[in-house]
This record gives sequence, C-alpha cells and structure tokens, in this order.
Amino acid sequence: MLNRYKKYLEVLDVKLNHLFEQQAPFIKCKKGCAYCCKDGEYPMSELEYINLMFEYNSLSGDLQDKINKKIEALLSSNRHKLYECPFLTDDCCSVYSARPLICRSFGLITYYKNSKNKIPFCVDLGLNYSNVYDKESCMLTMYAKDGTKPAAYNVERNTLRDKEMEELFDIRFGEDITNKKLPIKSKSLIIV
Ligand code: SF4
Repeated sequence: MLNRYKKYLEVLDVKLNHLFEQQAPFIKCKKGCAYCCKDGEYPMSELEYINLMFEYNSLSGDLQDKINKKIEALLSSNRHKLYECPFLTDDCCSVYSARPLICRSFGLITYYKNSKNKIPFCVDLGLNYSNVYDKESCMLTMYAKDGTKPAAYNVERNTLRDKEMEELFDIRFGEDITNKKLPIKSKSLIIV
C-alpha cells in the first residue's frame, strides 16, 4: 500500500508543480520561507502518518531527538490551536519528501466541492497573492502584470484524500491520527 501511496504522491507532485507554475506571478514560496509551518494545524491520516514515520526513521538520531523534544514541549505547553510543526528544523522540513497532503497544496488558492475559495493566510504577510490582494475588501482585485489571473484549484486536503483518489490508486487513507499514539522504534510519538 505504501508503494502505491508513493506513486500517488509522485503523480500529485507533478500536478501541483504545474499549478504552482501557472500561478507563478503570485507565488512567493521559496526554500527557507516557513511561515506556513509555524502557525497552523497539520492534520494527517494514518497512511500519511505511516509514510512520514518511515522518513522520520531514516533521519539521524540527533534529529529524531530534536523532533521528539519539540513534540514533548508542544504537548506539555498550554499551546493554542495553531502551533509550529515539530518537523520544522532550521526553517526547512525535515521530512519533506513524506510531508502530509495539507503541506503540499498550501500556497495555492484552493476549494473543496462547493465551498468558498481559501486564500493562503500568507497573503497577509505580503507573500502569496499579495500583489493582487486588497486588504480592505479581503478580495483578489487584479491580474498580474502579464495578465495571468489568480485561479482557485480543487486541491484542498479533503479532495486530495477523497474516495476517488483512494479508488484510483488503490489506497486507503484511514482516519486522521489526531490524538492517537503510534509507535516509532522503541519510543512513542504523539501528534495532536
Ligand atoms: S511536515 Fe514539513 S512541510 Fe509540513 S508543516 Fe511540518 S515542517 Fe512544514
């Protein structure tokens, strides 16, 4: 199943790369920009989690310890709902190739079924889509200089892990692992 999920990720990455390229005049994502990993929620299904744990297990012991300490600190703090992802290390993702689905389409304007378009929150930080965003009306008001229009895509997390994808790639995402314990090596890692 994991191999089929990896195949799915390959196909998905090609598709998302294409969408990011189409929206290039509005996109400010670059290595080292990690605002989206510092103030959010990062839900993931059992399948995403298992894949991520394989990547985690391939990290050096030092890095694993660092990540576990961050998780412990997170769990013992009176944190708010939004928090920094414990897999973020020196402003880079330590499990990048196995990052969850929610991380992959972040930065684009997304929607799910008939829901409203979601503009990435980094627009307020002067990042993605800020060159065509009016803060007062909270609307996208313009096109890029080259005439490119801001577009919304049906690549929200719920779409990326829906039944259609499961059937197409013969995979099962399972439940979200929120508040569940899953073992890593001899330790126990808890993601909430
Ligand atoms: S898993 Fe990686 S990309 Fe996703 S929020 Fe964490 S650090 Fe960022």
